[in-house]
Amino acid sequence: MTAVKVGVIALQGATRPHLEALHALGAHALEIRTPEDLAGVEAAVLPGGESTTMSFLLDSSGLREPLHDRIVNGMPVLGTCAGMILLADKVLDGRDDQRSLGVIDITVRRNGFGRQRESFEADLLVEGLGGEPFRAVFIRAPVVERAGSDVEVLARVEGIPVVCRSGKTTVCSFHPELGDDLRLHAMFLESVR
Ligand code: GLN
Repeated sequence: MTAVKVGVIALQGATRPHLEALHALGAHALEIRTPEDLAGVEAAVLPGGESTTMSFLLDSSGLREPLHDRIVNGMPVLGTCAGMILLADKVLDGRDDQRSLGVIDITVRRNGFGRQRESFEADLLVEGLGGEPFRAVFIRAPVVERAGSDVEVLARVEGIPVVCRSGKTTVCSFHPELGDDLRLHAMFLESVR
């Protein structure tokens, strides 16, 4: 069986740990910087980082439109933290010139978990990952304030959705690539195969 080709959008942010996680799971993981790179992959990951900068770089790289088109045409995508913000339908507390791709019907508030909890860890029960809790690392994480009726919520922290899925789009507000639990990436790869 040939390995699935999965691209990590490598404009800014934490790309390497995602590449390593995908590689460890047997995928052919590569960096995407141009529309040509995107054309060669079957699925994509939007990593954490800074969504304002990534929004700007999506435009300057020419990736915004082809990426949007691939996702609405069914390409599986995983967005983590800033990646979740970029995929969301609506962003609160964003910078005025920041634009999201609007491919999953959620409203997120940037840095919504608040100052006191700039970063924290939590043990999550994630639907579909079996009974073992997933140790999740949150760093200036967005808060999902609304999830549309076609959005499945797979995990919550204090009632707040932190893993959501709609069709082949999966988003999480934490960093599943930090740490050695690869189950969330594995679930994502299942949706590609
Ligand atoms: N707060 C960041 C943003 O708005 C996201 C933080 C992260 O990806 N760890 O883009």
